Amino acid sequence: MAKENYVQIIGVVESEPKYNEARGRTAYEVKTIRSGKRRDNLYVQAYGPAAVVANDFKVGDLVMATGVVVVNDVKKTEYCPDCEKKIIRETSVTEVAAVSNLRLYEVGTDFNLEDFADASNVVKIMGTVLFKPRLVVTSKGKIAKYIVSLNRRFMIDGQVRRQDDPTIVSCGNQAEEAYDNLRTDSLVYINGAMQTRNIKIDRVCPYCKCKYKEDSYVREIIPYNIEFLANCEKGVKERPRKDIGA
Ligand SMILES: [Zn+2]
Repeated sequence: MAKENYVQIIGVVESEPKYNEARGRTAYEVKTIRSGKRRDNLYVQAYGPAAVVANDFKVGDLVMATGVVVVNDVKKTEYCPDCEKKIIRETSVTEVAAVSNLRLYEVGTDFNLEDFADASNVVKIMGTVLFKPRLVVTSKGKIAKYIVSLNRRFMIDGQVRRQDDPTIVSCGNQAEEAYDNLRTDSLVYINGAMQTRNIKIDRVCPYCKCKYKEDSYVREIIPYNIEFLANCEKGVKERPRKDIGA
């Protein structure tokens, strides 16, 4: 079965690119825009020749990056607000692994990010649903969350793992549709965007036991369209075969 994992980002560089020569990659943050004017800061890791190109980007440049959605395990460092001891946490982050990136306009050029809204944050993925979505009703309406497992075509940092499991969030009617149709191993095609949401997480310091709120974020994929391709509850029906010559 064909798989797809494709991301295109056009956005403004928000942080000085960090080139990691030993690993041959460059990390930078990009501000993107979606139709509806919503802005999302996304994290890009450029690999191979793209890393060398990205190393030359300046804060404020308008750049374009193409690649795949990846979910990377990272160690996050923070400091207890009370005892100020260092706390290291293992977490996973959804990022863009860029195989190519280029500067469209230099910082200072008269460009308008809003003109790129349709092309600024584009995600196209095909994969299998890991488990039936949860449907929750919030003050903002219905929300369904689920995880779609994707296959990646290239290896990153020599990692053997070639599978990425990003979280998908559907809202409103689409949440209901996702809940009704999806189950474990459902095959879906999603055309959407990446969203970054700031959240606060309740923490307890492992040293002084004080309680505090950690400023954090989650990054999810928001579908514009979902196609229910196979193994779905009722989305895909056997198409009646047309009689030859009919
Ligand atoms: Zn503490």
